[in-house]
Amino acid sequence: AKRAGRGRHARFHGALAASARYRRLIETDLREAIARRELSLHYQPIVRAADGETVCYEALLRWHHPVRGPIPPLDFIPVAEETGMIHEIGTFVLHEACRQASRWRSGRSVAVNLSPAQFRSPALAAQVASALATSGLPAGRLELEITESVLLDPSSNNLALLGQLKQLGARIALDDFGTGYSSLSYLRTFRFDKIKIDRSFVREICDSREALAVVRAITGLSRSLGIVTTAEGVETPEQADRLLREGCGQLQGYLFGKPRPAPALPEAETAAPAR
Ligand code: C2E
Ligand code: CA
Ligand code: CA
Ligand code: CA
Repeated sequence: AKRAGRGRHARFHGALAASARYRRLIETDLREAIARRELSLHYQPIVRAADGETVCYEALLRWHHPVRGPIPPLDFIPVAEETGMIHEIGTFVLHEACRQASRWRSGRSVAVNLSPAQFRSPALAAQVASALATSGLPAGRLELEITESVLLDPSSNNLALLGQLKQLGARIALDDFGTGYSSLSYLRTFRFDKIKIDRSFVREICDSREALAVVRAITGLSRSLGIVTTAEGVETPEQADRLLREGCGQLQGYLFGKPRPAPALPEAETAAPAR
């Protein structure tokens, strides 16, 4: 019953998102959202598979609309990309994530999602450098997540930009791995620090031989290339156990923690006093 309910919810959102009226509403209201402080970040733990210790938090954007309540990122991020608002939003995300992470005495890292549109700006590396400098967060505690659509975009100087980001000292992760169609060739062209195995494989790992075979191929390949793997969307102990046995280094999903606002994290207890 729960599953059917979620399916209905997803279809409902899909239909809404497709409607031109909903899209216009998002576009208009999103312009005000930053200034009105309606955007914020939630953080989801990424744990070491071997011992469950949290090593990093992924920053996930949240929009709390004053009338409509929470609006899912998948409804408004595409609009932000099409309209160019993603540049302002992306800058906010970078600065906010670095600022909040710089207060975590635990020294844990923060992972920030970068959209393909952000790679069309030659100033991207300078923006990342500025977020690091302003916050005082050491570059080694910043991880940047990109999807392969960044690498597919012919209108950006993506490899050069990735090189600059790495030069700053940040780590680069390839997100949603396995969902694209030519992912393997990228592993030759750029030295990624981490590969994130998409949730669609993790969801079926205990029930589908095919999903298991794909995960096994990814972890094997990553091991021989010296790249860390993180599995996304881990929801059950059985999945976690299986992923650990397959040699997946890090796990992320509701089993270990949902995305939460910064003050709700265990980090808050050891936070440095506000400056
Ligand atoms: P993503 O980068 O693949 O992020 C993982 C998504 O999976 C998040 O959804 C997270 O809440 C969800 N998730 C995590 N664990 C589980 C689980 O165990 N089960 C299930 N069912 N879901 C899980 P969210 O927060 O709705 O974000 C959706 C997408 O929006 C992200 O996918 C990312 O592509 C994009 N996004 C979010 N924040 C940002 C941002 O600051 N900048 C950019 N450019 N994109 C963002
Ligand atoms: Ca991500
Ligand atoms: Ca992902
Ligand atoms: Ca995903």
